[in-house]
Amino acid sequence: MPSCLLPRYLYVYQLIFDSVKVLMVWKNFSISILAEMGCCSCFGFLGKPQRSVRSIHGSHGRFSREFLLLDNAEDADGVLYNGEAASMLHGSDEELQQSHKSSEEILFLRAQSGMICREVPVKETRHVIRTEDENGNKMVNEYVRECKIGAGSYGKVVLYRSTIDGKQYAIKAFHKSHLLKLRVAPSETAMTDVLREVSIMKMLDHPNIVNLIEVIDDPNTDNFYMVLEYVEGKWVCEGSGPPGGMGESTARRYLRDIVAGLIYLHTHNIVHGDIKPDNLLVTSSGTVKIGDFSVSQVFEDNNDVLRRSPGTPVFTAPECCLGLTYHGKAADTWALGVTLYCMLLGQYPFLGDTLQDTYDKIVKNPLSLPDGINLQLKNLLEALLCKDPKQRIVLEAVRVHPWVVGEEGPIPEYLCRCKRKSFQGVASV
Ligand code: ADP
Ligand code: MG
Repeated sequence: MPSCLLPRYLYVYQLIFDSVKVLMVWKNFSISILAEMGCCSCFGFLGKPQRSVRSIHGSHGRFSREFLLLDNAEDADGVLYNGEAASMLHGSDEELQQSHKSSEEILFLRAQSGMICREVPVKETRHVIRTEDENGNKMVNEYVRECKIGAGSYGKVVLYRSTIDGKQYAIKAFHKSHLLKLRVAPSETAMTDVLREVSIMKMLDHPNIVNLIEVIDDPNTDNFYMVLEYVEGKWVCEGSGPPGGMGESTARRYLRDIVAGLIYLHTHNIVHGDIKPDNLLVTSSGTVKIGDFSVSQVFEDNNDVLRRSPGTPVFTAPECCLGLTYHGKAADTWALGVTLYCMLLGQYPFLGDTLQDTYDKIVKNPLSLPDGINLQLKNLLEALLCKDPKQRIVLEAVRVHPWVVGEEGPIPEYLCRCKRKSFQGVASV
């Protein structure tokens, strides 16, 4: 080929390549289909595809760069921060997996050794009867459908009322055939994520964690339901904060609840992986509960090394943007910092026009805080949003931080049932 034609040839090639990329995004091309096309490693980082778009307070939609607020936006085009450290990737997924037991194995061992906090186990129902009540409302077993309350990434969340106790429940409903078709990693489908979410929630019992009540899985039908306590409140944005933000006292109250729940999770070697306001639900009495364990991971010991953050871009820690292995607990702590910033200021600390730009800002831009901010609060935000995970504040220190302590004192320690058992010498897994 004449050399003068070469650049043009490459240009046309690039155009075709770009068009295919655009088409893929435009047609919401299923990532699972791509993964099934035989591409083994390049989609290995896939977490939860086709996530729904949600804004910080659920529905205001004030932030239009929706893509960056999606869980796993990186899934769509494989972008990671492109800076100098990105080439320092080390350790394959296989190596990482070999050095760890999988979450599923650990959960199995914990269940076997009775390391479960709940006194009342989650109810397991193996039959589904789908009918209608006398008013034509759809029913699943004893639950009567009221309305849809959330769009999940793999299914939907619907409000039901039980005909047995008259209480409302949030039911996450899935189609097993759909979950099994959605490939999220070379050897995993979305079903793995949902089953892991269920297994994790089955262990937990804490006032700041959404409670899983029942799992309905009928082997003869395609339906799979998680019956959750309904958390009916709304984020309160009032007080002296800027528009969209909330006053310091409300933010402090919310933060204390989130930290209490997160310390409980980390004490049990569980990394949440997607801390953000959408996954933090508020009861009518103003208590915050952590929900959505769909990308959570369990560890055997304190070794919480992970690779490829499956969370939401604007809440992603700098070390995850760099594509390096990272410590899940420290990454949760960063996301807590972004959440506190959002609660107080009504905007994201680092948000660019594109995913790359957002990651650039997370990694490089200094934290900008308004003049005149309370100095204790400034200190806390800087400590949470510290770019270096090794220097970042740990949750135990957040628990006793002067701004968090306020007039109420340190966040009380929580002694759970299995922790008590572990003090009595049950092996820790
Ligand atoms: P996903 O993994 O798809 O993000 P979530 O568990 O976060 O699923 O649920 C999606 C949305 O449904 C939440 O952001 C919330 O608005 C609503 N939701 C989920 N669980 C509950 C609940 N227990 N009570 C009230 N609303 C809920
Ligand atoms: Mg969610």
